[in-house]
Amino acid sequence: MEVTNRYIVTKTHVDGAPEESHFELKTASLALTVEPGSNDVVVKNLYVSIDPYQLNRMKSYSSSQSAIYFSVSITPGEGIDAYGVARVVASGNSKFEKDDLVVGLIAWGEYSVVKEGNMLSKLDPMGFPLTYHVGILGFSGLAAYGGFFEVCQPKKGEKVFVSTASGSVGNLVGQYAKLFGCYVVGCAGSKKKVELLKEKLGFDEAFNYKDETDLKSTLKRYFPDGIDIYFDNVGSEMLEAAVANMNTFGRVAVCGVISEYTDGKRAAPDMLDVVYKRITIRGFLAADHMNVYSDFISTTSDHLRTGNMQALEDITPGVENIPSAFIGLFSGDNIGKKIVKIADE
Ligand code: NAP
Repeated sequence: MEVTNRYIVTKTHVDGAPEESHFELKTASLALTVEPGSNDVVVKNLYVSIDPYQLNRMKSYSSSQSAIYFSVSITPGEGIDAYGVARVVASGNSKFEKDDLVVGLIAWGEYSVVKEGNMLSKLDPMGFPLTYHVGILGFSGLAAYGGFFEVCQPKKGEKVFVSTASGSVGNLVGQYAKLFGCYVVGCAGSKKKVELLKEKLGFDEAFNYKDETDLKSTLKRYFPDGIDIYFDNVGSEMLEAAVANMNTFGRVAVCGVISEYTDGKRAAPDMLDVVYKRITIRGFLAADHMNVYSDFISTTSDHLRTGNMQALEDITPGVENIPSAFIGLFSGDNIGKKIVKIADE
């Protein structure tokens, strides 16, 4: 059987803020079968993840493109791979059967042909909505869990600051830190997000960074005794302000630097602060923390079942809406994990 597959491509490299004109919805016929002898797996995509790092893949150059397989450059006109949940339609790989649910690297489109079935795993939903496996129980969750517990090495009672705190990773860092017994302050880009952090997610404090004119004084106000841990999702001035307010032996986990993705800004933290306060600034990738994957899944699913953690999701339907969902990440449109629903389960 053949179908018409609709999928998203970039028309050119994207070297600034993404816009609708950079993207195109393409169509191509696709056979829902695999050739005899092939190990490929054809899947129908159900939910795809919308992530900021894809912008660095779309650039004509980014140092991240040569760092690891999933951050390689995206060629204009070609399909875009992305994390997501799908259902197997046809498989030449003995690990998968028709109708299996799978999670892994699929595509920003209606169907994906996954070469050799690489980067796919069978998915046991464990009684949770499938979207949880894209976000809170997927790589966003692992980034938050590994980044906070492994990189930050928290101690109970420490003071934690999280940026993009209502985003996919940030909201989970705040929730883990609160459950662990830390004092947590988050920043986000709107009044609505700030209220949600304090009222729904239990952050001790939160503020709208867009209302602030002097971030160093703002952080001094929220952390009169200094910051022990900064979970950085934005880079730039916020990183500089956080370093200026860090305590001795403070830790900065650099998860991402989204404010630097669109305009070439670069953070210039005071390096004498780093030296004399013996601050550790460490970048990391979620994929570095597969060693704690089973702890992450069991701890997080327990917290979800007991109601101690909440999944914050922002789901848009329709493959044609992938570009707007992606563009919206860079203007703060999303609250929680941004996902596009491609098809009914
Ligand atoms: P997200 O926070 O759900 O969405 C992006 C958010 O970033 C927006 O909602 C917006 O929130 C904020 N933002 C956008 N432009 C900004 C700017 N110029 N300055 C300040 N904030 C801005 O995205 P996410 O998936 O959780 O990713 C958060 C960060 O973690 C990104 O830097 C991403 O690259 C990184 N990340 C890293 C890993 C890893 O393995 N290291 C894994 C996942 C994500 P506001 O309304 O609050 O501005």
